[in-house]
Amino acid sequence: MGNLPGIVVMGASGRMGQMLTHTVLQSDRARLIGCVERPGHPWVGRDVGEAMGGAPIGLQVTDDAVGMIAQAQAVIDFTVPAATVATATLTAQARAVHVIGTTGFAPEDLEKLRAAARHAVIVRAGNMSLGVNLLVGLTRKVAAALGPEFDIEIVEAHHRHKVDAPSGTALMLGEAAAEARGVALSEVADRGRDGITGERQAGAIGFSAIRGGDVVGEHDVIFAGAGERLVLRHVATDRAIFARGALAAALWGQDRKPGEYDMTDVLGL
Ligand code: NAP
Repeated sequence: MGNLPGIVVMGASGRMGQMLTHTVLQSDRARLIGCVERPGHPWVGRDVGEAMGGAPIGLQVTDDAVGMIAQAQAVIDFTVPAATVATATLTAQARAVHVIGTTGFAPEDLEKLRAAARHAVIVRAGNMSLGVNLLVGLTRKVAAALGPEFDIEIVEAHHRHKVDAPSGTALMLGEAAAEARGVALSEVADRGRDGITGERQAGAIGFSAIRGGDVVGEHDVIFAGAGERLVLRHVATDRAIFARGALAAALWGQDRKPGEYDMTDVLGL
């Protein structure tokens, strides 16, 4: 037991934080050594099992990210960009694997993560599920095969609490399609149409976001041509798929060289 990699979960009270805590606790390949929340959070000091509405497990939620990460072999982080960037400095110092599921990073945040990855293994993916990562590969293939006369539209749906749009997954899919067409997504992305937008630009990759209820996550990649339409779809019905992927990434990252990795590396796709 003592030799199993020690895992710290950041943002333990969040939807994903709780799912990750359960997943690591159930694993016989890793040990949950810490659950971190921001200072002042009502869960700090409480037993994490009880805080989640179950039996006590003998592990208190802490706001001491520095002390906790210093003891970790891996840190799993599905929080907010500012917190994740701050955590990356600590994981780099501790030489711990940093698994990042957080989405919504600005370009300057990504620059900071890149700097941290000089010293730490960072596995970052806007979606940690096997199915979505396969969908990314399929999108790349279909975009290359069909050519620019097919318009690409990416439509995603998520629960009402999601704060960023398009989703990190939608952007991953857009990147894959753009890469297959040999263009930069930033040059062709068409986000948030409203009002008199004019005709669709040739070669644009469009994004639409639906927000509502408790939708875990749905992504369609639509290739719309003259007289036919191809739709690739992934539907997530259980957040456990992301948590299982994140734990797999934490274990995969042990003893790797520092650098930035994603789930295609972990899944060997
Ligand atoms: P959520 O329920 O809002 O959880 C975010 C958690 O982070 C909250 O507990 C929040 O605490 C905590 N937090 C905020 N600042 C913090 C800090 N400085 N230190 C420690 N914890 C802090 O959101 P969610 O649905 O779990 O999603 C979290 C992120 O994961 C989002 O970016 C989402 O898009 C992403 N996500 C990724 C995947 C994937 O597969 N990659 C899958 C699902 C979700 P407070 O309550 O105090 O704010």
